[in-house]
Amino acid sequence: MARYTEAVCRLCRREGEKLFLKGDRCYSPKCAMERRPHPPGPVRRFRAKESDYGNQLREKQKVRRIYGVFEKQFRRYFKRAKRMKGVTGSNLLVILESRLDNVVFRLGFADSRAQARQLVRHGHFDVNGRKTNIPSFLVKPGDQIVVRDRSKGNAYFKERVQTIDGSKVPGWLTIDAANFAGSVVAEPTREDIDFTLNEQLIVEYYSR
Ligand code: SF4
Repeated sequence: MARYTEAVCRLCRREGEKLFLKGDRCYSPKCAMERRPHPPGPVRRFRAKESDYGNQLREKQKVRRIYGVFEKQFRRYFKRAKRMKGVTGSNLLVILESRLDNVVFRLGFADSRAQARQLVRHGHFDVNGRKTNIPSFLVKPGDQIVVRDRSKGNAYFKERVQTIDGSKVPGWLTIDAANFAGSVVAEPTREDIDFTLNEQLIVEYYSR
């Protein structure tokens, strides 16, 4: 499976805002956006004026990077969102939120989506009683996500469940940390996405 292996802080610097890709470090003074809040490469004295196309591209890249999705798959999600009823941009974000790696992150089992993706890839979770190691698996209401029995004894998960803060789990999910389990109680909505995003720009980007 392809994955991004370069320095991820460059992605935040490129987008000009914190994308919170590295867990705790993002909230510390070590965050690259605190120390070097300019795009990677030589510092330009004058910022080039962004065109409409440039703004659309940047918004698309930003969302793609937040969720750690490559272009090919992102485009597939866009096509799927277009076929769904409702507003295409919101549908796209709902699809991205429903990815298993995002759900594991949102439930508090990982500090970042990248870490959640790795935990899923390593086969630490069951979905509805079946081992599921596909980060792009899309959950739906009623699904149960549980740390697998053999992983519950793992020091990482034992420590992790002690620190999960249920108040940070979005309303469409519930967490039962004592049982290493989470449930999807509803579909995520646009309002559940806590980043400032303009998904309409993404729709315009793919509609050119
Ligand atoms: Fe982005 Fe986090 Fe790196 Fe800061 S520490 S630049 S928020 S990935």
